[in-house]
Amino acid sequence: MKVLVLNCGSSSIKYQFIDTKNKDVLAKGMVERIGMSSAVLTHQPKEKEKIKIVGEILDHTIAIEYVIAVLLSPNHGVIKDKSEIEAVGHRVVHGGETFSDSVLITDQVLQAIKDNIELAPLHNPPNIKGIQACKTHLPGIPQCAVFDTAFHTKMPPHAYLYGIPYALYKKYKIRRYGFHGTSHRYVSKRAAQLLGKDISQLKIITAHLGNGASVAAINKGVSVDTSMGFTPLEGLLMGTRVGDMDPALVTYIMGKEELSLSEMNALMNKHSGLLGVSGESSDMREIEEAMKEGNKRAQYAFDIFTYRIKKYIGAYAAAMGGLDVLVFTGGIGENSTLVRQKVCENMEFLGIELHPRLNENPQGEAELSSVSSKVKVLRIPTNEEMVIAMDTAEIVEKQMQKFQNAGKNEDDSNEIKFN
Ligand code: ADP
Repeated sequence: MKVLVLNCGSSSIKYQFIDTKNKDVLAKGMVERIGMSSAVLTHQPKEKEKIKIVGEILDHTIAIEYVIAVLLSPNHGVIKDKSEIEAVGHRVVHGGETFSDSVLITDQVLQAIKDNIELAPLHNPPNIKGIQACKTHLPGIPQCAVFDTAFHTKMPPHAYLYGIPYALYKKYKIRRYGFHGTSHRYVSKRAAQLLGKDISQLKIITAHLGNGASVAAINKGVSVDTSMGFTPLEGLLMGTRVGDMDPALVTYIMGKEELSLSEMNALMNKHSGLLGVSGESSDMREIEEAMKEGNKRAQYAFDIFTYRIKKYIGAYAAAMGGLDVLVFTGGIGENSTLVRQKVCENMEFLGIELHPRLNENPQGEAELSSVSSKVKVLRIPTNEEMVIAMDTAEIVEKQMQKFQNAGKNEDDSNEIKFN
């Protein structure tokens, strides 16, 4: 099945057009600066030249229209007719407590995503705009939602409840949700496959380390804890996010610096993390460069970053009563030899022994631990778009089967109607 995968942000849309039959990425690209007169569409068709189009793209509906047009373009496209787009898969950030799996988008599902806007005010609205734009431009084509939070919905209450008055959980759904679920799910499954083991027998810790970063404890294939919480702000130090800190700092800093709510929010989300500590950059490559030149604050940022990951690994091994596999993924997890080395340093007591040569610039899916290491350390490049495409194809094919069976039974028409 050919699936258009969309990741709609507030001013950007990332897309991939995937043939799920052979997991082939036929085209991928991005629309940036939506809402501005100088919006940019970058399009990379498979085995063809990359193109860049600059123009006015005022909203998500127009952006999606452009994406479809470029997929159809005689010179740069990969399809001849719109009908070759058989389904659309959306990355949706927040499914709240409602969605523990990927779903076909119906009117009720769309309403439930809207109901969760309060939990993700920056993320769910553009996701909804993307869904509505596809309804306009691809009427009748099935759409599915794959949630960032879904994989973590099986966490036990002691992992997802905060120590605040319980009434606030009931009233406002304030609890830990966790994010990056699609990535944690994918790499943990791949880890079991690569090791030739049944995931139900493994205790896995996955470290998704990108601009946003989180660690997950996956026991027998179930996410039992993860470092991000009510929002993606909790947990590890990130590119620009603060991660764990004493909550008393919120009112203390606001008082001292006379900050408004939104200014404090920006301080914790945009001006902290690697950037805030180093004063140099939110980008790990630049932090590592600065460290090599003896920049002390870059060194502090790197040390906090790696120390926290180490602490979470210890905590999650304790939470699961052991550890069999540690997976590194995300831009930093996949590519930084230094970060992996520092995280795994002095972890032999836990059974983690990184092999220095295997850890040096590994490519693709790779084992990084030495033969004697009790814990297998793996590098697994994440592929969230492929998961979204595969989930979408599976759901839509099942749904079509259901319609066909119903049609047969009732001797009815086989026509399939989607929203
Ligand atoms: P996002 O969370 O935005 O998807 P990525 O997963 O692409 O981000 O990760 C981006 C991060 O990966 C940046 O901090 C970048 O510096 C880091 N990174 C990429 N390549 C390397 C490398 N070779 N060494 C260290 N860090 C790297």
